[in-house]
Amino acid sequence: MFHKILIANRGEIAVRIIRACKEMGIRSVAVYSEADRDAMHTRLADESVCIGPAPSNQSYLNIAALMAAAELTDAEAIHPGFGFLAENAEFASIVNESGLVWIGPTPESMRIMGDKVTAKKKMVDAGVPLVPGSDGAVETVEEARAIAKEAGFPIIIKASAGGGGRGMKVVHSETSLANAFSMCKSEAASCFGDDTVFIEKYLEQPRHIEVQVLGDTHGNLIHLFERECSMQRNNQKVLEEAPSAFLDPETREKICAAGVAAAAAVDYEGAGTIEFLMNSDKSFYFMEMNTRIQVEHPVTEWITGVDLIEWQIRVAYGEKLAFSQENIKIKGHAIECRINAEHPFKFTPSPGTVELYHAPGGRSVRVDSQLYTGYKIPPHYDSMIGKVITHARDREKCIRRMQRAIDELVILGVTTNQELHQRLLANPGFQSGDFNIHFLEKWLNQMS
Ligand code: ADP
Repeated sequence: MFHKILIANRGEIAVRIIRACKEMGIRSVAVYSEADRDAMHTRLADESVCIGPAPSNQSYLNIAALMAAAELTDAEAIHPGFGFLAENAEFASIVNESGLVWIGPTPESMRIMGDKVTAKKKMVDAGVPLVPGSDGAVETVEEARAIAKEAGFPIIIKASAGGGGRGMKVVHSETSLANAFSMCKSEAASCFGDDTVFIEKYLEQPRHIEVQVLGDTHGNLIHLFERECSMQRNNQKVLEEAPSAFLDPETREKICAAGVAAAAAVDYEGAGTIEFLMNSDKSFYFMEMNTRIQVEHPVTEWITGVDLIEWQIRVAYGEKLAFSQENIKIKGHAIECRINAEHPFKFTPSPGTVELYHAPGGRSVRVDSQLYTGYKIPPHYDSMIGKVITHARDREKCIRRMQRAIDELVILGVTTNQELHQRLLANPGFQSGDFNIHFLEKWLNQMS
C-alpha cells in the first residue's frame, strides 16, 4: 500500500480523507492556505505544507505549489477530494507524469466526461438515454431556434464546460431565446474559458437521481445503487438520501445498469457518479458524470457498508475490488443534511468565529465536519461546514433520527442553515417522499 498521500483539498472532505488514511496506516500530508493555518485538516494530518495565500487560485488551485508540496514531503499519491482541481484532467496528467499516483480515474475518462457535449456523444454510443435536445454544440441562434421548436419550450441552454450548477439558462419562450443564448455563450466563455453551449428540453418536474459506481484497474466495474438528490436550491443539493423512495426494484435495476454502462463507456476506474433526471413516469435521462468522490458519498457508504474513500485509494494502488455486484445489497435507509454557514432562508454567507460547537451523537449518527469550538470560518471558500448523516432500518425512522440529531447540533457564533433542515424534515411533502427538484424552492418562495 502507499506510505504517504497528499490531500489537495481542505474542509470536511480533507478531514474525511485523512481519517481514511489513518485507518489504513497511510501517512497523510495536508496542504493549506494562509487562511487555513488553524484548520482541522491542517491539524489532523501527519504533515502539513502551506501552499499560498487565501484566494483559491493562489493556493488550492495552484498546481505548481501542490506539486512542490508533494515533492517536498515525498508523497506517493494525490487525493483531490471534490471541487478545486478534482475534475481537472490537466492536473491529473501532471500528477501521473511526475511519477505520482492520481487517486481518481484516468485523465482520458475525465476529459471525455468533463466536456458535456463529448460525454453525451459517448452516451449515445453506449445506449444510455439522453434528454431530447441538440445532438452536440449549438453555434448560432438560428440553430437554437430550430432545436427549441422541435423539442418544444421550455428548454435549457447549458455550457459544455459548466459545473456546480453554473452556466445554465432556462428559456420559456421564443421571445427570450436570442438574448439568453448569447448571454449563456458569453458567460460560458468568461467563467469556463470555453463558449461551447448545447440545448436540452427542460423537464418540468424531474427528480435528480444519481448512481454511484466503482471500478478497479482490472476491468471490474460495479454500482452501489442510487442516491436521491432532488432537494436542491439554485441547483445545489441540500439534503440527500439513499436509496430513493421513488424507485421500484425494476426501475432501480434499469437505472443502475445504465450507470454502469455509462461508466464502462469510458473504461472508468475509481469512484464516480452518473447523474440522471427522472420523470414521474420513471423514464430517465443521463445528465452528466462526476469523475470524483461526491459530497453525498456517506449515504451510499451507510446503506452498502463500502468505505468509498478507502476503495478509491485501494484501486488507485492497483488492488482488485474485493467484492462483486452480487455482494452489494441495500441495508436500510440513510439521509445526509449539508450544514452551511449561511442564513437558513436568505442564504447570505456567514463566516466568522465558532463560539461553541457540539456535534450530535448516539446510535447511527455520523458527523463529517471541520468545525471545532474557536474555529474561525474563513470567508474565502465554500459555505459548507459539515454534514450530518443518519442511518436507520427504514426511511421513516431515519427521518426521526435525523430530526433529533439536527436538534442536538449546536453551532454558536455563526448563522447556519440548521433551522432550514429542522423545518424541511418536519414538512409533510418531504416526509411523503413524493417531491421533485423544484420542491424546495417552491416551498421557500411560499414562506417568504
Ligand atoms: P452541473 O454540472 O452544474 O451540476 P447539471 O447538468 O448536473 O449541471 O444540472 C444541475 C441541475 O440542473 C440538475 O440537478 C437539475 O436540477 C437541473 N437540470 C439540468 N438539466 C435539466 C433539464 N434538462 N431539465 C430540468 N432540469 C435540469
